[in-house]
Amino acid sequence: MAKILMLSVRPDEQAAIKAWQDRHPGVEVTTAAWELRASTVDQTAGFDGLVIQQRYNIEAEVYPKLKALGFKQISARTAGFDVLDLDLAKQNNLVVTNVPAYSPRSVAELALAHTLRLTRNLELFDDRASRQDFRWAGLQAKEIHSLTIGIIGAGRIGGTAARLFHALGAKVIANDLVENPELKDVLTYLPFEEVLKQADVVSLHVDLNESTHNLIDEHALSLMKPTAFLVNECRGPVVDTDALINALENKQLAGAALDTLTGEENFFNFNLEGQALPSQQLVKLRAMPNVVITPHVGFYTNIAVQNMVDISLDSALAVLEGQKPTTQVN
Ligand code: NAD
Repeated sequence: MAKILMLSVRPDEQAAIKAWQDRHPGVEVTTAAWELRASTVDQTAGFDGLVIQQRYNIEAEVYPKLKALGFKQISARTAGFDVLDLDLAKQNNLVVTNVPAYSPRSVAELALAHTLRLTRNLELFDDRASRQDFRWAGLQAKEIHSLTIGIIGAGRIGGTAARLFHALGAKVIANDLVENPELKDVLTYLPFEEVLKQADVVSLHVDLNESTHNLIDEHALSLMKPTAFLVNECRGPVVDTDALINALENKQLAGAALDTLTGEENFFNFNLEGQALPSQQLVKLRAMPNVVITPHVGFYTNIAVQNMVDISLDSALAVLEGQKPTTQVN
């Protein structure tokens, strides 16, 4: 019987793991909460397959140890795999797999939720209510079908978000390096700067690469309407956070919703109640009533978690059975 060890497992993943296990009685899945590190790698002895999901990089000495223990693969149950060194994995005959698209809808729905939160002024109403101020003056909202939504990066998630906004009657414009003919019924492609100038909401869905690092910088923000909102569901470093803070402070922008922030590995998914925050940028953003912050939870839905578990375990099993998984990245 193939034995797969699944690491960094959260309690909320157990139901999805049990559902996969029930469909694969010939495989034994063991779960553990610890991460794959040089200090823990010896504990993987006796297993055939490995599924991970972790925030810290895997040290170089782990790869030859896994090879020596007989492993043939490492399956990440995430889209990103930057914690892994693909070359070192290859040198040690370890196939690396990921879950490229666990649920574009999960992130796209958060972009929609964040957009509505901003356009309906919900943060500002919450702020007033927290001070027992229940007036509505000055906070008239704009209906979504009267707005132009600008999607930057109309890939799997951006394309799905475009379809959701289009279905609600919004005008959708987009910029991408590659135009997808299948999206032309729901959006109009425009140059990057035109999208920034015309959009009432700019929703970011690019992958993080050299061309997208600080894509939304001081200049980009200066092109946006002062009534516009910025939504970032993709990667923190796509936005120059200091430039965003300046733009918000100077009222060059009406507000922002951020599911991802540079430096988030130091604060997202931690309970920091009563402690000094480790980021001055976070301190400043939190103090602004027109900024929505969620701790990188775009992926965190019932469907996405089940897909992450299913696809990563399917990939691990494929390698153990001598097949080439479609999710192989090295
Ligand atoms: P994808 O590869 O399908 O789409 C990315 C798109 O961005 C592509 O169409 C690409 O051509 C485009 N792009 C790249 N560079 C560009 C540039 N300079 N200008 C314009 N367009 C550019 O990726 P995806 O699966 O849709 O994921 C999109 C982003 O969402 C990624 O950054 C991913 O890390 C992030 N993500 C976030 C969460 C979350 O929980 N918030 C979950 C999953 C993915």
